[in-house]
Order: sequence, then structure tokens, then C-alpha cells
Amino acid sequence: LKHYVTGKAAESDMEVVATEAVELKVPEGSKDAIVLKNLYLSCDPYMRSRMTKHDKPSYVPDFVPGEVIIGYGVSKVVDSTHQDFKVGELVWGMTGWEEYSLISNPQNFFKVNHPEIPLSHYTGILGMPGFTAYVGFHEIAAPKQGEYMFVSAAAGAVGQLVGQFAKLMGCYVVGSAGSDEKVELLKNKFGFDDAFNYKKESNLIQTLQRFFPEGIDIYFENVGGATLEAVLQNMRLHGRIVACGMISQYNLVEPEGIRNLFQIVAKRIRMEGFVVFDYFANYYKFEEMTVQYIKGGKITYVEDIVEGLENAPSALIGLYEGRNVGKQVVVVSRE
Ligand code: NDP
Repeated sequence: LKHYVTGKAAESDMEVVATEAVELKVPEGSKDAIVLKNLYLSCDPYMRSRMTKHDKPSYVPDFVPGEVIIGYGVSKVVDSTHQDFKVGELVWGMTGWEEYSLISNPQNFFKVNHPEIPLSHYTGILGMPGFTAYVGFHEIAAPKQGEYMFVSAAAGAVGQLVGQFAKLMGCYVVGSAGSDEKVELLKNKFGFDDAFNYKKESNLIQTLQRFFPEGIDIYFENVGGATLEAVLQNMRLHGRIVACGMISQYNLVEPEGIRNLFQIVAKRIRMEGFVVFDYFANYYKFEEMTVQYIKGGKITYVEDIVEGLENAPSALIGLYEGRNVGKQVVVVSRE
């Protein structure tokens, strides 16, 4: 990261820097550390928040200008003084946007238990976004068969899975996305009951009335702003809103005002936020369940793969412009 960012983030806020060659070993005397070769990096919307200097501590620490960007990735252990990690093992967790990283405290890394699944999936369906979809859907929404569900940013890393979990549960699910190509994916690949391109709709309140004549039981919120405002007007009594993210607000200096908030009271809506980190203790249970879904052909997953660390800044910025079709992954090295 070159400097802190205010307003819209750009590729030019980041730079690729070559450093002197270093030995790929844990420094002498460092206990419980690992050196990682980074293979796949994950571009995630929350990273925008870390580019801003916050007056008070945010839910994730701010990046430090001049230092390497930190994010989720899949890596191979190339040296270790930590008893839980062996050389040659594959792991995923918070690593650096660099070819090799020294991790002095690897306790938040997970083992890749299923290397037979494409490794890049550990940035998405089997990584943080997949687990987010699982927690948001099963723990927060607690859906019942036959309920009406709406998902925004539905073709993305989290949304595509939420929709498929909803279908497995027997819900009626509609997704919104920002291009006709994504709408096509939602309907024909991920099995959503219906989908629409929100950029082509002039009145979102009426659009949602059209797709949900009886109202929405569960809204899986990924975008915020005008979409949330329109959803509130279309919620059913005792509806639930899973506040997962609000990407439309991340590049704004001042968040947009939301109307229709009183609907939360009038319709006894439960709107609940969650942060996936709080649930990581249950990760391996999720991994096993999802691997079985993938192997049984019950769940499919689309990735948008970019080659080369030098293309990571552009891939990250692409998230806020909707350029990614599916989970945005950056390949640093394939092995
Ligand atoms: P995606 O793969 O969905 O990529 C982001 C997508 O957001 C873009 O492709 C774009 O799709 C859409 N988007 C961008 N800008 C806007 C805008 N102004 N209005 C509407 N849509 C926009 O990202 P993820 O699936 O990784 O993340 C989805 C959401 O989940 C984010 O809000 C993220 O912050 C949140 N999240 C929350 C977590 C938690 O612990 N609570 C953990 C992980 C993610 P389109 O073409 O459809 O516009």
C-alpha cells in the first residue's frame, strides 16, 4: 500500500516493489514461526476498509502504508519451527501479498485437508467467503423450507453459495447482480429461481414487488444503500436481514442515508450483523460438509482467476466495479 486512501480506491494506491533476496528460512532463534510460499491470493471487499486510516480501531486493523498488503491466501509451508506445521504442508489464512511470507504467529492458519479439490477453492468456497455464506445462511438466517429469500451481489464469492444453500434447503431464492452475464449464471448455473440485473431497473421497490409479490422472508445483505432501502419496503412480517456486507458504501467518504428503516419496527424484522472470524472454531465441520457437496455435484463454484502478483491491485479494485465474475483469485504460483 502506497498511502492511506480516502474515497474511491485505485490501482495507483498500491505498487509492486522488488526486494533484495532473502533466505527462505525462519530466522535463527525464532520459535513457532513458519515461512510460506504463497500460491493463491484472495481479493475480498473488506480490504478496502483496511486501506483507510481510522480514528478509532476498526473491526480489522488498518494496513500500514509502505508495508505489504495482508489478505487471505493459500500457501505451502517451506520452513517451520512450529510443531503444528510441517514443511510441504498446504495451509490457508492471512498471509502477505508477496511471493514468500514469514509468519511469526501462525495460530490462525487452517490446514488444507482436501488437496484433491482445486487449491484455489480455499480462497473461496472452502475458505473465508464460503464459510461466510455458511455462517450467514445457517447460523444467522436460520431459514425454513419454502421461505422467500433475496440475495444481493448474488454472483460473487459469497452470494453464489448462499443461493445454492437456499435451494438445498428448499427456499425460493432470487438474486441480483450487475450484468446480464451474471444474471444468466445465477439462473442457469447456480439454480436460483430467478434473478435480475439491478443496473437495468429504474425502481428497485417495484422490481422487488414483481419478484416477491408476497414479500421477502430473508434478505442476505451484501450491498447496502438503495438496495437495502428497497428491500425494507418489501420485507414480510417477522422477516430477517442477514447483514453480511454493504459494498456499495465502502468507497464513500460519507455513508448514504437509508430510508424505510422504520419498517424494521413495523414488520418486526430482525436485522443481524455478523463477522465470520467469530465462527472460525467450526471451520473444519464446514470444510467436510462442503467437500461432500462438491464431490457429489450438489454445489458448483465459479472463480475469476487472474495470473501474477503484479495484477493483484487491479483485481482488487475490480471488486468495487463489479468486474469479477465469481470469486476473484490471484495466482502467484501454482505449486
Ligand atoms: P463479490 O465476489 O460479490 O465481489 C463484489 C461484488 O459486489 C462485485 O462483483 C459487484 O457485483 C458488487 N458490487 C460492487 N459495487 C457495488 C455497488 N456499488 N452496488 C451493488 N453491488 C456492487 O464479493 P464477496 O462475495 O467476497 O463479498 C460479498 C459481500 O460480503 C461484501 O459486502 C463483503 O464485504 C461481505 N463479506 C462479509 C463477511 C463477514 O464476515 N460479514 C465476510 C466476507 C464477505 P455486481 O456486478 O453484482 O454489482
